[in-house]
Amino acid sequence: MNRLEFIKSVITGFAGMNTLKDLHNLPQQHGDENKKMPVLFVGHGSPMNGIEDNEFSLRWSAMGKEIPTPTAVLCISAHWFTKGTHITAMEHPKTIHDFYGFPKALFDIEYPAPGNPMLAKETTSLVHTTSVGLDHDWGLDHGTWSVVRKMYPKANIPVLQLSIDYTRKPQFHFDLAKELSALRKKGVLIIGSGNMVHNLGILDWKRMDSGYDWAVEMNEVFKKSITNRDHQALINFENLGTAGKLAIPTPEHYLPMLYALGLQEKNEEAVFFNDKTLMGSISMTSFRLG
Ligand code: ZN
Repeated sequence: MNRLEFIKSVITGFAGMNTLKDLHNLPQQHGDENKKMPVLFVGHGSPMNGIEDNEFSLRWSAMGKEIPTPTAVLCISAHWFTKGTHITAMEHPKTIHDFYGFPKALFDIEYPAPGNPMLAKETTSLVHTTSVGLDHDWGLDHGTWSVVRKMYPKANIPVLQLSIDYTRKPQFHFDLAKELSALRKKGVLIIGSGNMVHNLGILDWKRMDSGYDWAVEMNEVFKKSITNRDHQALINFENLGTAGKLAIPTPEHYLPMLYALGLQEKNEEAVFFNDKTLMGSISMTSFRLG
C-alpha cells in the first residue's frame, strides 16, 4: 500500500478496516534487530539504462520504493576489477564515466551521493578472508550509479563500492560475501551489479529484444541453479561447457552474482526480475533475496 492508497483506505472506511494490520506489515528497518536488508543482484546492461526510463530502469525505480530505505548501499560492480579487495572510503565519491561512444547526456550525469568512511572502516574489520584496503581514488562507476540513481534519485543515501579481486578464484568471492552479512542487519543494501550472461564481442545489434539460443539456455541454467540453491554449480561456472564459455568469456560481470548468492540465508528464496535476454548475448536477469 503506498501513501495515497493508505490515505484513501482511511477515508473510504471499509478498506480502512485493514489499516492497523497494514501498519503492522510495514517494513520495520529501524529497531528490528532480526530484520535483514534484502540483497540484490542486478543485471545493469547498457549505461543508457541509467538515464532512460525503460522496462529495466523502471523496475529499479520500483524496487527502490518496495524495499526498506537502506542506511547505506554497498555495491560490488563489474567495473571495479582490481588486484586485492578495496572499499571506497571517501566522504564524497566522484561519479565515474567509465564508457565511451555514448551521448553527452550520459557524460553529464553526476550522482552526488555521499560516501561513509566509518562504514568503510567497519567493513574492513568484518572481513577476515583477505585484507580490504581503504580506497580514496575510485568513486562510483556506472555499474553502480546507473542502477542506484534510479533507485534513489535524491542521492541522499551513502553509497560505497567494494572491488572485485581479479587474482582470486570464484570460491573466494562467494566466501568473502558471507562475511558482509552483518551489514544487512545494519540496514545496508548490498547490490551485486553485473550481468549473468555478458559477451560484448558478439552482440547482435539487429536482435535488440532477444538472446541467442545459447544465451537463453544459459539464462535458464543459471536461474535453475539459483532457485535450487546449487551454489557450487554457480561457483564452478568454468565447468559449464561451450554455452557457459560464451556466456562468461570474462568473469567480471558474473562474479558480482556470487557476492549476492554468498549472502543468501536458508529462509530466503530468490525472486527474479528483469528476466530477459537481449542483443543476442546479454542477460538482464536479476534477483532479490530477502
Ligand atoms: Zn557493465
